[in-house]
Amino acid sequence: MSYSYEAPVSQALFDRASIVTPGGVNSPVRAFRAVGGTPRFMVSGDGPYLTDADGRDYVDLVCSWGPMILGHARPEVIEAVQAAVARGTSFGTPGEGEVALAEEIVARVAPVEQVRLVSSGTEATMSAIRLARGFTGRAKIVKFAGCYHGHVDALLAAAGSGVATFGLPDTPGVTGAQAGDTVVLPYNDLAAVREAFAAHPGEIACVITEASPGNMGVVPPRDGFNAGLKELCAANGALYISDEVMTGFRTSKAGWYGIDGVAPDLMTFGKVMGGGFPAAAFGGRADVMAHLAPAGPVYQAGTLSGNPVATAAGLAQLRLLDDAAYAKVDAVSAEIRALVTDALRKEGVAHRVQTAGNMFSVFFTADEVRDYEDAKRQEAFRYTGFFHSMLAAGVYLPPSAFESWFVSTAHDDRAVERVAAALPAAARAAAEATGTGVSA
Ligand code: PLP
Repeated sequence: MSYSYEAPVSQALFDRASIVTPGGVNSPVRAFRAVGGTPRFMVSGDGPYLTDADGRDYVDLVCSWGPMILGHARPEVIEAVQAAVARGTSFGTPGEGEVALAEEIVARVAPVEQVRLVSSGTEATMSAIRLARGFTGRAKIVKFAGCYHGHVDALLAAAGSGVATFGLPDTPGVTGAQAGDTVVLPYNDLAAVREAFAAHPGEIACVITEASPGNMGVVPPRDGFNAGLKELCAANGALYISDEVMTGFRTSKAGWYGIDGVAPDLMTFGKVMGGGFPAAAFGGRADVMAHLAPAGPVYQAGTLSGNPVATAAGLAQLRLLDDAAYAKVDAVSAEIRALVTDALRKEGVAHRVQTAGNMFSVFFTADEVRDYEDAKRQEAFRYTGFFHSMLAAGVYLPPSAFESWFVSTAHDDRAVERVAAALPAAARAAAEATGTGVSA
């Protein structure tokens, strides 16, 4: 199936990009490999819309994979960035902006007593794990299949996101030594965690989990799962690390913690807290964070950590995210979920819309999806036709059936109406799709 005729300028850019960049993209899922066709090269964003290099605009239901919770080019954020840029872009010294951003995070998320700023979610989870190992003096870590924590070597085993999209069990380049201390368990399975602690007494430094997974599609924790993890970690001298890079400051003022109230030992953040710039963080118990250099012996550093432009963007965005903003994002999310359900039901397409706060995704299966194995059993081939029909009608969805959809405060009635108008044909395309099993 060829879709390239739809976007000649994007196609030309993609051809150029493919000469100088592997696969033509700087992050794999952007390449449209799972759905086929030409990745759209975007040139601008405004509120809920993106405009591509061919001059077509789209209602954006990806929101830069989460960060753009206020929509694109929100004036207050842009002004804060412009003011910061005018003062200089990097000093390599401490600055007030990073203190203010750290204070904002600590004020919002009770379990975070201290926080260290970094530049990507990957850095945040990598550093949190090093800290957990340094603090406990133990080597092994537990992660869950289908959870993605960035491209940290030890965490790429059975990861979600692009790894799920491409169906890679693991990745070449990660050695046995790097992954050998990683214990991968099925998500939502407390008995498996209990067994792992019994099998490796005194060896497990931490359990890391997405607070509510969004990288195998949206698969929320069962009631009591996160609380059970915390309990098991505490009983076995391990740290409980909640990765809120995706859910943090998105699903509520205090992220997923604001919804389930289970206090982790360490947490990781990214996406929303950077306001569209590379800013991320890890933080938690002060006695654990005290082990980080220069206060303690566990080394961690970054030339651009706490960058003044990134912190200005993040702070401006967080300060606009009040209760009313979250109510708006939740309402838009509910509206779009209802429209999707209605359209697919009318076409008789077996599906489940799974939700975690205002994050959601559509699985083409009749059965509840509780873990990565369930997610992989969906009829992902139906997503291809669905995706391209939406794209042709001016709605930009994640180019993979294994990703969360994201909305923003900027998604107004006009944007939702375009989604509503696009859905009937997309649902028909999903119904008519042919294929077997998983298309990932
Ligand atoms: N953790 C989670 C839960 C994520 O969703 C992601 C990215 O999607 C990461 C970590 C990695 O963040 P980054 O892409 O900023 O390195």
